[in-house]
Amino acid sequence: MTHSPFSLLPISFPRSNWQQACELAPLFNELVDRVSLDGEFLQESLSRTKEADVFTRRLLDIHSKMLEINKREEIRLGLHRSDYMLDAQTNSLLQVELNTISTSSIAPGCIVSELHRNLINQNGKLLGLDSGNIPRNNNVSQYAEALAKAWIEYNNSRAVILAVVQADEHNMYDQLWLLSILKERYGVTVIRKTLTEIDADAVLLPDGTLLVGDREVAVVYFRAGYTPRDYPSESEWRARLLMEQSSAVKCPSISYHLVGTKKIQQELAKPNVLERFIENEDDIEKLRKCFAGLWDLDDSNAVKNAIKRPELFVIKPQREGGGNNIYGDDVRETLLKLEKERSEERAAYILMQRIFPFTAPACLVRDGSCHQVNSVSEVGIFGAYLRNKEKVIMNDECGYLIRTKGSTANEGGVISGYAVIDIIYLT
Ligand code: ADP
Ligand code: MG
Repeated sequence: MTHSPFSLLPISFPRSNWQQACELAPLFNELVDRVSLDGEFLQESLSRTKEADVFTRRLLDIHSKMLEINKREEIRLGLHRSDYMLDAQTNSLLQVELNTISTSSIAPGCIVSELHRNLINQNGKLLGLDSGNIPRNNNVSQYAEALAKAWIEYNNSRAVILAVVQADEHNMYDQLWLLSILKERYGVTVIRKTLTEIDADAVLLPDGTLLVGDREVAVVYFRAGYTPRDYPSESEWRARLLMEQSSAVKCPSISYHLVGTKKIQQELAKPNVLERFIENEDDIEKLRKCFAGLWDLDDSNAVKNAIKRPELFVIKPQREGGGNNIYGDDVRETLLKLEKERSEERAAYILMQRIFPFTAPACLVRDGSCHQVNSVSEVGIFGAYLRNKEKVIMNDECGYLIRTKGSTANEGGVISGYAVIDIIYLT
């Protein structure tokens, strides 16, 4: 067992950009919901990607099956996190990505915010800091509330929440904290199972009820299933399909999951695409303002620029969880290689403008020892969205996760070992 890596003091961040990021949370929540309802848009946008990427194809196949049987999700729950960096050159807040499945590091983020508040309260004069400038982080409570409300909507007090987990989970206490609040505060029982176990234990009744053993499932909460590694055999895909076919609330549904792919992020950034989903022009403007440059690999102009200046771009496959992107000289090499391949191969990736955030000195604590580095930070804003057939029940910004890493590191995940959990100090 090892502690979550954390920074010793908060990072400075402009209050105006902070407010901007928080205001975007309900807009992205709504956007995900709208896009998820447009099955044709999802299928069409990912049609070429699925030819090159087997994982996307399997997800899309489940989505197709749901379209065929005209499956409707009346109760929809999204627990998202939108990640941003503050671009140093333009001073603008740019979105790195939007996560719609298994958003993690919720509990440690709350604890580190209390740690920093305490350190500053004890040493504030010495440090010249005021803990009042650290925004409260109640993410774990708000996520528990959203899950509990979805469970209430399902309306069977004997039903459970099924947390789908990885067999070799390293971030278990993040989940257990959340799940224990569900039990203590809302009296909801949560069972944790891997996809392999679900395939063995779960059945679908003709009326759509999902049973695990003899327990009816009200909500399926995915903390696994976002990476091909979670599907070592057909067994796990069977489990995913079975749950999708059921009347349990899925967090996320297959549609919500697909909206979070990098390819959809890139499609949404094209001209006139947001307009398809959102009416309010101010909202469109706010969303578009945070989009970085995004292109597909058939955009010959963008590709030409990236071959010339690879350090200014990132190539991303359709993967989650860190460690998958391509940076620096590898960008050029990959593009030159892909130019010779069939165009389907290129559709597995997107090309993105590389964001260069402000750097600052930081003390990062990992495995009990402290390292002073020049660092960059990424701001993640959690959001919760819940609706039923009639109305939106919850559409909130739900706290934050700041991840800080050495300024020379490319990737940025906490669990994947690149970054530490940090807190924000508003200036
Ligand atoms: P994943 O789904 O694996 O988390 P991300 O798109 O979030 O993929 O990329 C992983 C990490 O790589 C981010 O946390 C960030 O640190 C870095 N990164 C991603 N995109 C960019 C970008 N456009 N500019 C700079 N850094 C980036
Ligand atoms: Mg990420």
